[in-house]
Amino acid sequence: MAPQTDLQTKKLNAVLKIAIPIPLHKTFDYLPPRSVDLDKFRPGQRLTVPFGKQSRVGYLLEVSSSSETAKDKLKKADALLDEQPLLSKEELTLLRWAGHYYHHPIGDVINSAFPVALRKGSKAKLPPINKLVLTRLGKEIHQTELSRAPRQAALIHLLQNNPLGLYIEELNHLEWNWRDAARALTKKELIETVEVSTSTESLPEIPPPLLALNKEQEQAVSAVSNSFGHFKSFLLEGITGSGKTEVYLRLIQETIEKGQQVMVLLPEISLTPQLESRFQARFPIPIATYHSGLSEQKRLHHWLRFQRGDWPILLGTRSAAFIPMKKPGLIIVDEEHDSSFKQQEGFRFSARDIAIVRARQLKIPVLLGTATPSLESLLNCQRKRYQHLHLTTRAGNASPPQFQLLDLRNKQLEEGLSLELIKSISRTVERGEQVLLFLNRRGFAPTWICHSCGYTADCNRCHARMVFHKQTNLLRCHHCGKEQRPIQRCPKCRQSDLQPLGIGTERIEQVLNRLFPAQTVARIDRDTTRRKGELNRVLEQITNGEINILLGTQMLAKGHHFPNVTLVGILDIDHGLFSYDFRASEKMAQMIIQVAGRAGREEKRGKVLLQTRHPDHPLLASLIHQGYGTFAREALLERSAAQLPPITHQALMRCEATDQNSPPHFLSLVAELAEKLAIKKVEILGPVPAPMERRAGRYRYQLLLQSHEREPLHTLLDQLVPDIDNLRESKKVRWSLDVDPVDLY
Ligand code: ADP
Ligand code: ZN
Repeated sequence: MAPQTDLQTKKLNAVLKIAIPIPLHKTFDYLPPRSVDLDKFRPGQRLTVPFGKQSRVGYLLEVSSSSETAKDKLKKADALLDEQPLLSKEELTLLRWAGHYYHHPIGDVINSAFPVALRKGSKAKLPPINKLVLTRLGKEIHQTELSRAPRQAALIHLLQNNPLGLYIEELNHLEWNWRDAARALTKKELIETVEVSTSTESLPEIPPPLLALNKEQEQAVSAVSNSFGHFKSFLLEGITGSGKTEVYLRLIQETIEKGQQVMVLLPEISLTPQLESRFQARFPIPIATYHSGLSEQKRLHHWLRFQRGDWPILLGTRSAAFIPMKKPGLIIVDEEHDSSFKQQEGFRFSARDIAIVRARQLKIPVLLGTATPSLESLLNCQRKRYQHLHLTTRAGNASPPQFQLLDLRNKQLEEGLSLELIKSISRTVERGEQVLLFLNRRGFAPTWICHSCGYTADCNRCHARMVFHKQTNLLRCHHCGKEQRPIQRCPKCRQSDLQPLGIGTERIEQVLNRLFPAQTVARIDRDTTRRKGELNRVLEQITNGEINILLGTQMLAKGHHFPNVTLVGILDIDHGLFSYDFRASEKMAQMIIQVAGRAGREEKRGKVLLQTRHPDHPLLASLIHQGYGTFAREALLERSAAQLPPITHQALMRCEATDQNSPPHFLSLVAELAEKLAIKKVEILGPVPAPMERRAGRYRYQLLLQSHEREPLHTLLDQLVPDIDNLRESKKVRWSLDVDPVDLY
């Protein structure tokens, strides 16, 4: 009898500590729901709980026997949603650590580990999954027998190449109507739909790799694989086209063969569909993908597949960084320098940094790869925290591109294009090769200006110019989205002489069409690729050679493989040379090298022309003549001299409000509080107006906290944040804290 009574008393006393996704830095206490036995509760389960007048999904962190609130004031939780916890102890520890490190409310932090469907309380159950497979008849039929029904023939062909069948989900990626074809083929008993029993499905064998690795690749692979089973960080610095992806693929294969899982984090998957197909081609098994472009259902499905350990590979963006891993083996962060690994709003974590912390916790290796390492990672190599691996030559027969600066001073320009560049373009297309032009500014012209008095059309909600878009005939603010018809009469001098000034991609497209009427020009930017599937379609046309000249923004810079591009023109690099943001030159250098890396990736040597009005700028010179490595070393010395990150550590407090006075007032109070805490070794800088002082109708200010060591900075924040929450003024403004900011905007 005794144990039972014991259990009953325990239940009477039990308090559930629950994290709820709201912007408060605390957990909430609830009593267990009456109907559930106490031994059913495990940290990492979801529950629904009454909260105010609503019911919310919360996450169980702990079953405790005490509460700061009197027991009779506590409410009962409504229901337990999961029998098994969805997060392991380690994963909860990691999330709590992240909440603490980034000073972000724990409920919101835990939310970020889950797909939307689970946040809303959906069952953590795999949806029924259907696959199309060939029948015996279908396996034998020859495509020519279906030549009068080309779609049916295409589908049969596809299935004959995928003998394990294709998931409906995969077929939905096809941009043609496969459903009608499938219906017809089913009637003819050539194919059938089968439901995949979701847990028992065994994965097919992975064929051995075809390429022999070169020596450096070999060394990189063995360095990492020698660390399987314990924690170690690696930086794989390999010039574009040197075969980094091949190194990843080998390591992934080894990990899978050991029965473990690999998480691969990428900056933006939707921009690099080619990479996903390369993985898929190499590993004929289902691969979990996770990014914001997927449906809620698909994200739930792939999350569960990885969490349960059914599928060994996950390709995801930063939102995947916290996905549970059942059998952790390896984490890879590709393009580690990319600032999109840092979340810029809400829970401002860095997925790259989380990957490192996570690998340490899980005792597995983590591999950061890039052609252009961040200064943070380079410093970590210098300090021997990471092992530095190098790939210095292009794989296969490709050789690195040749750089040349085009001095624009006193040159006549054809709407932004120098004569030399135009000549090079025409020689390249005449040889039947492709040209890539890069300009990181969409729209027709960044300024709409009065030629009589110099008035410019500005956004009335932001400190920013309105950008002229010719195709839609609109002035558009790229910061708040405001749109209006172009003003025809100057509000200042009353003349009707307003014109576009400066160049954007739309304008370059127009001049290219005029100069090269016989060539096909494609523009790739956010305006032209809004429609789903559009980017893929254009990328295919480029690969097929239907396009001669492609022009685009940074969407073109990332990871694409264009074998026939031999000329890259970078139209304007000067804004990166002189900027208030100390990271601007690093970002510019990375961008130049990444874009340049699209050129001459196969036999033909590539050439890169950079237009500039500052050909003597020292950073440009070291980048062009000595390469990224030298540039980065020099940039790191500059940072050190100026006491800037990564030599120092920062936390940025941002504040905004509709009136101009509250933000600086509030931040001064915060600065006072911080000073009162008198923590040594932390500098308190500001408040100062943000680089864009007004945005979307709000005034923006910031306060910077900086230290040579992380510890005092975090000691200060630990004490400061609760103090701020208690400030009356904090209710009147919007404020946020950004630990390790990558952008001072
Ligand atoms: P990165 O990821 O560094 O840009 P990739 O892995 O995409 O480079 O490799 C560039 C090209 O070289 C690809 O076409 C790839 O198949 C090829 N490649 C990679 N490694 C080798 C190798 N060891 N031998 C021959 N070709 C290779
Ligand atoms: Zn605006």
